[in-house]
Amino acid sequence: MNAIEIEVPAIYEEDIKRILNKLGILEEITQGKAKCFICDKKISLDNFGGVVKIKGNLKVLCDDPICIETAIEITEALKGSE
Ligand SMILES: [Zn+2]
Repeated sequence: MNAIEIEVPAIYEEDIKRILNKLGILEEITQGKAKCFICDKKISLDNFGGVVKIKGNLKVLCDDPICIETAIEITEALKGSE
C-alpha cells in the first residue's frame, strides 16, 4: 500500500476547489481553519501549495517552495523507513 502521495494542483482556482472538495478539505480552507503543516501559516485558496498524505493523514501545505521541499523530504524519508 502506498501511503504517501503528493498532489500538486493546477493553477486555476476552479480546479483547486474541485481537488480540495474531492479531498474533503475545501471547507477547512475557505473557512480559514487550515494551516501549513510545515510553517503553520494559514492556508487560503491564494497560497495553497499542495497536500501530502502521511500515513493516511492529509497535510496541507502553503505555496512556499521551502515548505513543499521540506514536505517532499519528509515523505521521502518516511518512504525509506517503510
Ligand atoms: Zn508553509
